[in-house]
Amino acid sequence: MASPSATVYLSLGANLGDRLANLRLALARLQTLAHLEEVSSLYETQPQGVTDQPLFFNAVCRLSTGLEPQALLRFLKNLEWEAGRRPGGQTWGPRPIDLDILLYDDRLVDAPELTVPHPRLAERAFVLVPLCELAPELRHPLLGKTMEELLASLGEKGVKKTAPTGWEKSDGNEGIAGAEA
Ligand code: AMP
Repeated sequence: MASPSATVYLSLGANLGDRLANLRLALARLQTLAHLEEVSSLYETQPQGVTDQPLFFNAVCRLSTGLEPQALLRFLKNLEWEAGRRPGGQTWGPRPIDLDILLYDDRLVDAPELTVPHPRLAERAFVLVPLCELAPELRHPLLGKTMEELLASLGEKGVKKTAPTGWEKSDGNEGIAGAEA
């Protein structure tokens, strides 16, 4: 059973269309069902896997929600559709939006459509760098290491902070960038 309010970390990415607008739309929609507590800085990152594609914008946010993990995943998939993503694209290929559940409290989920913690969290600097802004001492429930330790092992290659108008790192007190989109 879900805790009344779980703490969830999400990864947000985009490398097609208006990347900033797509991420702002995601934050605005997330605010309709969850309490968006904190949003990281925005990073411009090198694509991984398929490298011949545009640079990504990436960020991480923390929210509290009563939604079960599977229901949250459905919400994210609908949101990806709204932002223009269609199923069947190339694995690791370009996409207008990508929303992943990184962590859901200390819960472990191993279902066909959902794995939490996200299985590639520790391999992705574009996830760990923004995640470490929000929760450097948070411990990975399976690996037993903090996010800071995982990032120190991996390195920050290919991840560069960027600060376009319309995106501000926020702790939720002064409003979340894009929430009015
Ligand atoms: P992606 O290409 O990153 O959107 O992921 C493709 C599929 O991964 C999704 O349709 C999900 O069903 C599945 N998936 C498994 N674990 C996760 C997770 N932790 N967060 C988001 N999607 C996940």
